[in-house]
Amino acid sequence: MAVKIDKKIKGYAVVTPEDKAKAVQADAVPRAVAEAELPTADVIQMHERIERPEVLIGSTYKIKSPLVEHAMYVTINDIVLNAGSEHEQRRPFEIFINSKSMDHFQWIVALTRIMSAVFRKGGDVTFLVEEMKAVFDPKGGYFKAGGVYMPSLVAELGMIVEDHLKSIGMIHDPEMSPERRALIAEKRRAFEERSKKNAEISVAGEMGGALVAPAHEEDIEVTGDGASFPPSATMCHKCSNKAVVIMDGCATCLNCGYSKCG
Ligand SMILES: [Zn+2]
Repeated sequence: MAVKIDKKIKGYAVVTPEDKAKAVQADAVPRAVAEAELPTADVIQMHERIERPEVLIGSTYKIKSPLVEHAMYVTINDIVLNAGSEHEQRRPFEIFINSKSMDHFQWIVALTRIMSAVFRKGGDVTFLVEEMKAVFDPKGGYFKAGGVYMPSLVAELGMIVEDHLKSIGMIHDPEMSPERRALIAEKRRAFEERSKKNAEISVAGEMGGALVAPAHEEDIEVTGDGASFPPSATMCHKCSNKAVVIMDGCATCLNCGYSKCG
């Protein structure tokens, strides 16, 4: 581009790449305008301005804890977004807890209102599960039927939220590797065989009339999850199941495979 200069040149500067970049930036369309012009898919995401439909579907879970006199009923209602489309998703919308006992009323109301607000904010709500499961009661937790240790009532609520989010597909169980499964099955078989052998020794002892230490067979008990662990098993700190047995002088969990000796 040719420019005719009529006046005296008093000074000059070279246009640097930085200057050019600045000029381009100034010319750029503001982000909001550009975004508005983009074609948008009509996918509704969860956010707090979504109005509650007249009817919501949900599930009610029962908690029976030795920490409270009466059972507690936990209801989690879900909203279905983009129903009928490929983007259909079911998300938790609100949580209520009902019970005859009033001793925990005020914190339950506070907790459920805050949880419902988090559900409605949208985004990833699964962090609630880990936060709640990590709460422990300084007065001590309790064992649920099946031998799962609950460090507190709040932790049990966390477990229920986890179960619920699993049932609607928002949380997925991590796959256990086939090698790990095989290892646990092997440890289990070894344990069962050994307790059978102990039982035979004790029967032989009784027949011979000799004094033999009473080694008795352990009945394998079937727990709520369909898994079975010996009654003498102790709590596993990794998976919170009563499934740890001593094998060859080493504490081994028959549920998750955790072993103190590696
Ligand atoms: Zn375990």
